[in-house]
Amino acid sequence: GGRSGNRGECAQPCRLPYKKCAEKAKDTYALSIKDMCLASHITKILSLGAASLKIEGRMKSPEYVYGVTAIYRRLLDERRNASPEELAELRALFSRSGFTDGYFTGKIGREMLGIRTDADKADTAAGTKPADYGALMKNRRRPLSLSLTLAAGKPAALTVRSGEFSASVTGAIPDEAKTCPLTVEAVTKNLTKLGNTPFFAESAEVTLDDGLMMPVSALNALRRDAVDALSKKLFARREAKLPGKIEPPQTKPGKPLRTARFHSYERIPADTAGFDIVYLPLEKFRAGMCDRVSGVILPPVIFDSERSEVAAMLKTAADAGIRHALVSNLGHLRLAAEAGMIPHGDFRLNIYNGWTVDALFELGFADLMASPELTLPQLRDLGLPTVIYGRIPLMLLEKCVIRDLYSCEECKKHDFLAMRDRKNAKFPLARTYEHRNILYNSVPVYMADRMDSRIADGHFIFTDESAKRASDINAAYMGKLTITPPDGGIRRIAK
Ligand SMILES: [Zn+2]
Repeated sequence: GGRSGNRGECAQPCRLPYKKCAEKAKDTYALSIKDMCLASHITKILSLGAASLKIEGRMKSPEYVYGVTAIYRRLLDERRNASPEELAELRALFSRSGFTDGYFTGKIGREMLGIRTDADKADTAAGTKPADYGALMKNRRRPLSLSLTLAAGKPAALTVRSGEFSASVTGAIPDEAKTCPLTVEAVTKNLTKLGNTPFFAESAEVTLDDGLMMPVSALNALRRDAVDALSKKLFARREAKLPGKIEPPQTKPGKPLRTARFHSYERIPADTAGFDIVYLPLEKFRAGMCDRVSGVILPPVIFDSERSEVAAMLKTAADAGIRHALVSNLGHLRLAAEAGMIPHGDFRLNIYNGWTVDALFELGFADLMASPELTLPQLRDLGLPTVIYGRIPLMLLEKCVIRDLYSCEECKKHDFLAMRDRKNAKFPLARTYEHRNILYNSVPVYMADRMDSRIADGHFIFTDESAKRASDINAAYMGKLTITPPDGGIRRIAK
């Protein structure tokens, strides 16, 4: 939906149902992985030398953060694994039909998937709150003394005090009561409603002239104003000392290249005129392909255990005459260098600013691509190309999603399979190095009709296009052919 997880805007698409592309396909939560829980592996993790653990708690309740942290704190202090009771407690705090340790144990499969069921919610509702949580929360609230004066003809005046801090506010002038005047009791009751504030009422003093009235809303506003004013004094944050405006360095990249990547050799047109470099994924490269291929794409994820295999593949490609390597991870720069290849920076480096550009050139990149999330003016400022055609990869998945929707027989057989979302948009899925999956956007970037002076050049991602279609698209971008943009919509680089 255009919301970028890179910018904290994740709309949690992984929690939604998807279907395979077939008649009568069932909804499958193929991307919804259960939360990881390694509480049963603490001694192992400690023996590996881990210095700290990360507990994920974004968008979770304070009870959750408290409960989960308390358990892991205990496990670390006592250097032991969780007991069955502690695991049940964790599950009651929050789970999606239990937890997974699949990536840690290497048992990667369908049982890692889970959604938040009504049973899970009931489990959480019934779960005993951590015993000391209530007391802890009360202890964290501060005592507040309130003093209110309501006098005829004068604005209502409220002073609140907590420790050595106090705040005074004034409000509306009370009216003369026609029927039922305010009572000290009623006003006190209203004043001490501090439910959702960091305070509890320790004392309240109300000085009230006879025969006055004031709407409840005005009293509430008075209390809120006073509490806000006091909170500001109490919880004043230290202002971060940032220097004024920092100008990013003016980078001077060379002339942007026009480059293309293809999913397979068979999908590369015979004529690739106009492209400075034509890339193929490294694992698909064979010695006889140099007639159309001039660069290889390193797998975006390379585990340590896979490094030597990747290095060997790079050597094969270099021996065959390949000079260019597209690198999407800083850690892979060395692999490319050791193979004697020219390293080019992929859009996966997520470049957004001039400092990054400077630092990456310093490290030895020959050229770079900016993040495809940037706008045209931002790209112009950076002077970098980005993806100007094609489906941008949305996810790289360690677990085969094709298996959960179709089967691994299918994922071996087909270049591309697709999954549909609730709006029937089709997202192509491809099996890649080491049986990982790449999930591509349902719509390609398309700028062939906007190749004016604003776009110098850029990168083409060809995925499920035939060689003929790729050839037509290339011609369209060179202004030699008018083609109909793909059905189902396109994505533009924002102005
Ligand atoms: Zn598979």
